[in-house]
Amino acid sequence: MNDHVAVTKNNIIITENTATKTNTVLTIPAPRSAALATKPYPVAGPGFVVVEVEVAPVCNEGRIYRDHQFEWHDSPEHLGHEGVGTIVETRPRSRFEIGDRVVVFQGNSCGKCFVCTQGLSPTHCLGIPYEGYEDGMAPQDVTAGLLGIEKVNGSDSGGFGMVRYRLAPEHMVMRLPDNLSFHHAASANCTLGCTYTAAEESGVKAGDVVLVGGVGFIGMGAVVNALHRGAQVVVLGRNSYRMDLCRRLGATAVIDPDSDDWLDQIHALTGDRRGVDVAFECSGAPYYLERCMAGLRRYGTLFSMGFNDAAVRFSPSILNDLMDRHINWTGGHDVRFRDRDGLLRMLCDPQVQNRIDMIVTHTYPMSRAAEAFETALTKNCGKIYLLPQH
Ligand SMILES: [Zn+2]
Ligand SMILES: [Zn+2]
Repeated sequence: MNDHVAVTKNNIIITENTATKTNTVLTIPAPRSAALATKPYPVAGPGFVVVEVEVAPVCNEGRIYRDHQFEWHDSPEHLGHEGVGTIVETRPRSRFEIGDRVVVFQGNSCGKCFVCTQGLSPTHCLGIPYEGYEDGMAPQDVTAGLLGIEKVNGSDSGGFGMVRYRLAPEHMVMRLPDNLSFHHAASANCTLGCTYTAAEESGVKAGDVVLVGGVGFIGMGAVVNALHRGAQVVVLGRNSYRMDLCRRLGATAVIDPDSDDWLDQIHALTGDRRGVDVAFECSGAPYYLERCMAGLRRYGTLFSMGFNDAAVRFSPSILNDLMDRHINWTGGHDVRFRDRDGLLRMLCDPQVQNRIDMIVTHTYPMSRAAEAFETALTKNCGKIYLLPQH
């Protein structure tokens, strides 16, 4: 094994033999079971850093824990994609230093395709063959993906988020401002990051009315981004815990989508425009998609930010829903390169930080991840953080 790991302790550089070091990774070996596993310490090739992970936020892993159905890049021993931490290993000519506090964005985008070169979102990089799953491409052969990170480095661990030591390509790592805590910075991925890009792409601005439907932690992130931009926020939802949380965040109104007059209530709030300017649909359920589309004004924008089941289909009327009402409908699930700087600035705003404190309702040591996932499944929560060092 190599012996180039350097750690700082009391400002003294110590070289450790990595053969004696290991990594701890979270596994979901069976439905409703989570366990830690010991793996070899990550091997970092040129252009990569090793990050000691402080916070690994829970995203879709609650659903994986329940159903044992994985996304293309996940598997029972490869979980998590969000995170912040401290750099503990660099390669020669790195633009980072040991001790840098960073956020890690997910994946290893190619840096060459039109998506990458125009500052768009790395998870939409052409290096990820969304159109070619049926061709049988193995996840480890997708170099832009998380398993690909381990393969290109010849590493037996570290490509994923729920680990003590994470392997990350330098272009997916960003240094944190000194005054930004790990706790607040950890919202830069799927909580406030993806929703920052969605708000930016939808052009949300002061005076707009924004509808958020199907609220989990992504919906809460959409609420915070819209409020930060000076918009009014109307939330469509039924879970009383989450609706109370949205009211505390500052939502103008919470509407029960089962009520007979839910659309009249939206029209009453939007006056002459007869509908909201932008709707963020955060569940992927047709029930909420239909209502978000109906709640838009003419020329409004619907942004899809959630899904539950890739097999779900939704069929709007091309004439009545889209063309007659001139609706723009798009979706996405990542932070654009060009938005990273603005996102970190937003996270330094004290009011945004207060709202992050409200959204992050639970924190668990990674050794108690099963409890974290059970909490996620109750839906009586906002965002949940795992602490891999504990
Ligand atoms: Zn996520
Ligand atoms: Zn690319």
